Amino acid sequence: MTDCVFCRIVAGQIPATVVHEDEHTLAFMDIGQVNPGHVLVALKAHAESLFALEEAQAAAVFRAAARVARGIRAAFEPQGLSVYQANGKPAGQTVFHFHIHLVPRHDGDGMNLTWPVKNPPREKLEDYAARIRARLGAAPL
Ligand code: AMP
Ligand code: ZN
Repeated sequence: MTDCVFCRIVAGQIPATVVHEDEHTLAFMDIGQVNPGHVLVALKAHAESLFALEEAQAAAVFRAAARVARGIRAAFEPQGLSVYQANGKPAGQTVFHFHIHLVPRHDGDGMNLTWPVKNPPREKLEDYAARIRARLGAAPL
């Protein structure tokens, strides 16, 4: 039996409260509920992170996220909604099976992300962009 908690949810081996299911994705309530209506949209297949997603999986997971986000908005009428998605421990990932957080947001709800801007000169931006453009064909991990 796998020790991946989300694989076990997908397999029906542990309970989850499901809000949406399709060929590639399963969306269920995050057990921690940062705010009421907090949903995780997970891939059904085990892929550790964004870097491992095939094109069809990437398309499906964001299609599902948009659909579920509209449902959250209609049901909870939040003032906003944050999409949070962590890849790797330094990024805050704790469950290493790809998922997107949809978190309804309200003024003063206490959810904060420190955003330490560096504002580098334009030449730096050009250099960074060129490096990424040269590797856009990189295969999924
Ligand atoms: P992340 O830090 O992005 O990897 O988030 C993992 C999320 O999974 C956390 O917000 C947890 O509350 C949530 N989580 C962990 N186990 C379960 C579970 N069995 N059912 C629902 N959500 C879970
Ligand atoms: Zn898994």
